[in-house]
Amino acid sequence: MTVQLRIQAAKGCLIDNRWVETAEKIPVIDPSDGQSFGEIAAGGPAEIEAAVEAARRAFDGGAWSRLTAAERGRLLSELGRAVTASAEELAGLEAADTGKPLSQARADMVACARYFEFYGGAADKVHGQTIPFLSGYQVQAWYEPHGVTGHIIPWNYPAQMFGRSLAPALAMGNATVLKPAEEASLTPLRLAELAMEAGFPSGAINVVPGYGETAGAALTASPGVDFLSFTGSPEVGVLVQTAAARNHVGCTLELGGKSPQIVFEDADLEKALPVLVGAIVQNGGQTCSAGSRALIQRGVWDRVLELLTARFETLTAAPSGEDRDLGALISATQRDRVESFLARARAPLIARGRIADTAPEGGFYVAPALYGPVEEEDELAREEVFGPVLSLIPFEDEADALRIANGTDYGLVAGVWTGDAGRQMRVAKALRCGQVFLNGYGAGGGIELPFGGVRKSGHGREKGFAALYDFSQLKTVVQNHG
Ligand code: NAD
Repeated sequence: MTVQLRIQAAKGCLIDNRWVETAEKIPVIDPSDGQSFGEIAAGGPAEIEAAVEAARRAFDGGAWSRLTAAERGRLLSELGRAVTASAEELAGLEAADTGKPLSQARADMVACARYFEFYGGAADKVHGQTIPFLSGYQVQAWYEPHGVTGHIIPWNYPAQMFGRSLAPALAMGNATVLKPAEEASLTPLRLAELAMEAGFPSGAINVVPGYGETAGAALTASPGVDFLSFTGSPEVGVLVQTAAARNHVGCTLELGGKSPQIVFEDADLEKALPVLVGAIVQNGGQTCSAGSRALIQRGVWDRVLELLTARFETLTAAPSGEDRDLGALISATQRDRVESFLARARAPLIARGRIADTAPEGGFYVAPALYGPVEEEDELAREEVFGPVLSLIPFEDEADALRIANGTDYGLVAGVWTGDAGRQMRVAKALRCGQVFLNGYGAGGGIELPFGGVRKSGHGREKGFAALYDFSQLKTVVQNHG
């Protein structure tokens, strides 16, 4: 595997369907042991500019621009099949690059393929509108691509993000430039190669790995980019939005959350609790929609505490190949960031999982932690930790639950556990967030489901048909035919 990774990693930036070498490189670190096993290109402003120009040529008269919607869809579907055919290789790359358990990496490849399959099928199904107007007029509104779209993705789900961000943009006919995260670029580079092999014309998909402050900033500042899509931290989200404003282009921001799962007294705890645990342990808690707050009604507090404690004590972080509950976190920085939250925690620590004896010394492991009762004003109740840390917060009644659930700056996803159908709808309506699960929770899944946040969680919608509308703009054509 390592040899294969070295070959892959040496390939540079993919610009105009060609590999472009860079002098500067970024080491590739396996979070499971902290060891470097290769290097990738560090693209900068010059590579970004070349990529944006290649995308512009593809969009303005290039082979890409001449494809029909159905032909674009066929290419996307073909890439989906290629991802499925290479799923095992891709999962191996992803697990080595991010530290996630192999089964999670495999599930990510299924999701990645699904993005191309879904948007491949959707490409020719975005139909315009006809609008009744004055007598003697015919009015149509067409969904047109923005042009060149810039995509900046994070390290937590590189392959899924590649699909989630690029597939709808390509389905609408945009030409794309993607900058993956410096911590995890292997699968985006390999996926770009698979796209080239699947027959995507030059310039439709360009991938420039590199650092955020150089390559990322150059992409956001480029006057050649017509729309930006960003997933990552709120701080960088502000920079991206500011850069977009300077160029008078739109952007989609997906900035994480502090998503609550609300457990009422009448909830089916047998169903709810495994989902509560899964939603924070998945990917080591490094998921924008991780269920990081569990709001528990007082009447079931003791029972929930007992069951969650028993489960948390068994949770084990281990190297990706061992495929345990969670792997290492992405980097030493991320591990230290999570541990610093725990060091500052004011709430009682209820339970802590463990790090496997087999975990190498140099790996970036954090044992899962369960805290409660966490005060509403505490950092652990308000800030995104982005690690395997669950905060339990008690509540009295429905109004109290809603006040706490809506009481952070974020608003991405929420879970509601209750058998009362009326309450399900009342609470779903009152929650300020982009997605609500009733008696369930999906951290990250659901390609068909519009996804995105409010306030500090960002704006715009990804996934589902909603993403196709975000990656296009309406042109209204008014004909006076007399
Ligand atoms: P980040 O926002 O710095 O990185 C995300 C992406 O933005 C990367 O590709 C990075 O290279 C790029 N980037 C960084 N600076 C940039 C700039 N000035 N201009 C343009 N692009 C830039 O996130 P991080 O530092 O890797 O993680 C910090 C915290 O962010 C995490 O602890 C977590 O709380 C949050 N986060 C959220 C998500 C999410 O899915 N919402 C993903 C990753 C991180």
